[in-house]
Amino acid sequence: PTAPSVMSVNGHFANMGEKPSREQYEHGIQVINENQQFNPILPQYLSFEKVSPVGFNYHLISVFGSQSTGKSTLLNYLFGTEFGVMSEDDRRQTTKGIWMSKNKKLHSATDSKSMAENILVMDVEGTDGRERGEDQDFERKSALFALATSEVLIVNIWEHQVGLYQGANMGLLKVVFEVNLELFLKNSKSNPRSLLFFVIRDHLGTTPLANLRNTLIQDLTRIWSGLNKPPGLEKSKIEDYFDFAFAALPHKILQPERFVSEVARLGTRFREGHRDPRRDPLRGDQEFEGGIFLPEYHRRIPADGFSIYAEQVWEQIVNNKDLDLPTQQELMAQFRCDEIAREVLVGFDETIMPFEEKQAEGIRLGSQQIIPGLGAAMRTARMKTIKNFETEASRYHKGVYARKKAELESKIDGRLKVLFQGQLSAAHKSGVRDFSDAVTAAVKAGQKKGASYDFAEIVDREKKTALSKYEKEARGVLVEGAPWSNYKQEMSLYQKELGEVSGRLRRDEMRRLATRVERWVRSRLGESVGLEFNALGSGRGGSGAPDTGERESEREIWDRIWTVFMKTVDEAERRFTDRAKSFDASSGEVEVGLWRLKRKSWGVLRAKIEEEMMEGNLLLKLRENFEDKFRYDEAGVPRIWRPTDDIEGMYTKARESTLTLIPLLSRFQSSYTSSPPPLDEWIGNTPSEATPADEEDLTPIGGVDEDEGKSLEEEMTILSDAKRQDITTRFKKTADGVYVEAKRSAIGGMTQ
Ligand code: GDP
Ligand code: MG
Repeated sequence: PTAPSVMSVNGHFANMGEKPSREQYEHGIQVINENQQFNPILPQYLSFEKVSPVGFNYHLISVFGSQSTGKSTLLNYLFGTEFGVMSEDDRRQTTKGIWMSKNKKLHSATDSKSMAENILVMDVEGTDGRERGEDQDFERKSALFALATSEVLIVNIWEHQVGLYQGANMGLLKVVFEVNLELFLKNSKSNPRSLLFFVIRDHLGTTPLANLRNTLIQDLTRIWSGLNKPPGLEKSKIEDYFDFAFAALPHKILQPERFVSEVARLGTRFREGHRDPRRDPLRGDQEFEGGIFLPEYHRRIPADGFSIYAEQVWEQIVNNKDLDLPTQQELMAQFRCDEIAREVLVGFDETIMPFEEKQAEGIRLGSQQIIPGLGAAMRTARMKTIKNFETEASRYHKGVYARKKAELESKIDGRLKVLFQGQLSAAHKSGVRDFSDAVTAAVKAGQKKGASYDFAEIVDREKKTALSKYEKEARGVLVEGAPWSNYKQEMSLYQKELGEVSGRLRRDEMRRLATRVERWVRSRLGESVGLEFNALGSGRGGSGAPDTGERESEREIWDRIWTVFMKTVDEAERRFTDRAKSFDASSGEVEVGLWRLKRKSWGVLRAKIEEEMMEGNLLLKLRENFEDKFRYDEAGVPRIWRPTDDIEGMYTKARESTLTLIPLLSRFQSSYTSSPPPLDEWIGNTPSEATPADEEDLTPIGGVDEDEGKSLEEEMTILSDAKRQDITTRFKKTADGVYVEAKRSAIGGMTQ
């Protein structure tokens, strides 16, 4: 045969990491080389042969026997493999270490007698070779390895060796039994049975197979009873661990045609079968219904985990460590589950990472956006990832699988949760913004139309829209089965913030209302207080009560102003309260609004008074008042001065009368009690709900805001003493001028 290309060169594996090819695997793969090294490219071989994805749907057979007994030849005939065989002329050992090849005989699904799918065959180096005769060590190791992995051990034996109890084969079987006890003593829980399939070569036919079988079984039983059994297993029987099957083949060289046909018949036995429990395992062949592959022989190593399992097992064997199969299976399960998790995460990453990047960018730029299509992607990614993991990994150790699945789930759920919450937070932000914008726009539209819009209704409507939008987005990113898939808490936070925003908008609206009401107060007071002051100019008091006496009327100017102020503010308060209630303002908010309104209204009044009392205005008023008193008679008819008139007397009277106005006007006070109006009481204390923002734009009021250091008295002082002096002097001068003029006109009237 041509030299196998995947083989050891000076004890090292060649072609590692290279892409496998058909020729490379022509002879299968050397799993263990003569230096007892494990071949790391076994996984490539298994995937090349399409065995990796088949789960448990494969079978493993090892062949044992002395060297040069035609083992490799048998396998090649039986399974169409191309294991190296010894050539007739160069009688040297060929098979070194352990080789593996997949059955190349076609499997036919329709033929019930066709071979099972995915049979892997291991050709084990012969045991008593001249070259390695001294090496009992490898015999043990390979037997352990085969028992830990294989369902069926073919024992290849010449007919003439049967009954030779001292023969090499019996030595081998002793090793197999010992190793098996060693192995399954520790692993009593996972006590798989194995089938020892004796193939008797060069069967002459003179001794029937049944007799050969009996002889072999007697020998086996003797070997077994001679074994040094570990404590606890002294009474164990060989059939507790092994089933037996037997076949005989004619001489390949002497009866070539019969050899071929018998091998073909033998091949049909390598298919799945059942045990008839009533039958005796020691009787061999009789026991099987169908093929020899009974489910209980299977080592339950998923095909995609076989390489790692075999490698671990071999490492333990080579290093003479205790071979604890359940531990190996758990280790393999961990390794494979991690690998499978990594594989399925690739697909997950492909779907999810673009979304993660998009979201991260949004956060970086400070403009988190709702990402369309996120929910569907998350749902499919999660479902697919977990399903793919389940498909591959559920074949492994249940506990490990469950743990690794939980790990995987928490890993992907952790990432999905971030996306979920990012989306909720984007929906939250845009929802709040949209809500605020929509309310503001609706209010503006309402103002434009001039009609009185219903603020509460606008807020209500927009809140509903905002909530249903949010719910739609949130529901869109729910992922069934994910522990975080719930937005109740986020939704209530959102709702709360909408409440806060509408509160803020309502306060804005209150401010606008307050401004409108204040404007109304200003215009009303401007008019009515202006009239009061104008009336001073007539010298008969205001409010159209000319005949109650000028003095009386003038004296009560502050009473009237206070009254009209109270009336105006009362009306304003009513307007404010009605409107504020219509948009659901709380009583506290209304209270604050009214308190502000009163203070602002006082400010308006105070400003109006100050305006009227500006020097020029005041002098004009005094002059008018004086002239009215001096130049008009009681009936309001202008006087024509005659020299006989008591001009001086009238002048003095009128001047004194007007002069009384100056102290009167200097102080805002009740004409009855001479005390200032109860401004402090009327405004009241700062409401408990007033915020610093509510007080920010307020002008301090003496006597109300105590810490201002200004008393109510001072607040009510309209003219300071100095101002009064000044005004008095200047008025007198003006009055004098009028008097002189009157004097002149009296004389002038005479001369005319
Ligand atoms: P292995 O070392 O057990 O794998 O044996 P091989 O398959 O390499 O064969 C060893 C030798 O035995 C070769 O020269 C074969 O031609 C020969 N051989 C193979 N099968 C038979 C057989 O059924 N009977 C006899 N007598 N010789 C055989
Ligand atoms: Mg061989």
